[in-house]
Amino acid sequence: MRVAVISDIHGNLAALERTLESVRAEEPDTIWCLGDTVGYGPEPNECCALVAAESEITLVGNHDLGVLGELDLSTFAPEAAAAAEWTQTILDESSRAFLTSLQPAADTERATLAHGSPRDPIWEYVLSWEQAAAAFESSPRGLILVGHSHAALHFSEPDAGEWGLAPEGTTVTLDQSRLLNPGSVGQPRDGDPRAAWLLVDFSTSTASFRRTSYDIPKTQAAIIEAGLPESLAERLAAGV
Ligand code: ZN
Repeated sequence: MRVAVISDIHGNLAALERTLESVRAEEPDTIWCLGDTVGYGPEPNECCALVAAESEITLVGNHDLGVLGELDLSTFAPEAAAAAEWTQTILDESSRAFLTSLQPAADTERATLAHGSPRDPIWEYVLSWEQAAAAFESSPRGLILVGHSHAALHFSEPDAGEWGLAPEGTTVTLDQSRLLNPGSVGQPRDGDPRAAWLLVDFSTSTASFRRTSYDIPKTQAAIIEAGLPESLAERLAAGV
């Protein structure tokens, strides 16, 4: 079975559409989405509709929950809170129903999925070896997939030293326990502004990190047009 893993789309429709084109070209058996479909970006409803149609398993993330009114926006950074408040004003009923139906973590036969981490699926960023080790302890499955940090990352359990950023072209084997973050489709923060995603191939026991170029100026223009904070447009070009 081959699975395309996407995450942190954040209302960036141009990035999502181009990513799905790249995904379809690989003809995976299914698509999993690790959450934060909305927040920050200008096209939340369109992104919800596409994810609902294309993704077999979709998680809810902290930004989705903030937009739904289930998290206190005073705990968000100012631009994130402003974007969540704007998203609340335009979120349509079908998007709201879709996001409300989701959970922040899920288990499949071969993988544990969490937006943040298995022990704290809404808030924890897995950015260190200690956090990854805790995740491995809390999941009996050999593969843990997380989003939330917007950085493509790989960790392996037996070799405590083996973890780090996973730039385009990085391929890891699944013959040892792995924690993988596909990176972000709609707001990458690992220095590569292209949309990030992951292709997991259980038949060959490999996972490869992918990047897809998209029309960044198009999304930037939509952010400005919507009256969202300009910094949210600027950061897309730098991938930070
Ligand atoms: Zn996010």
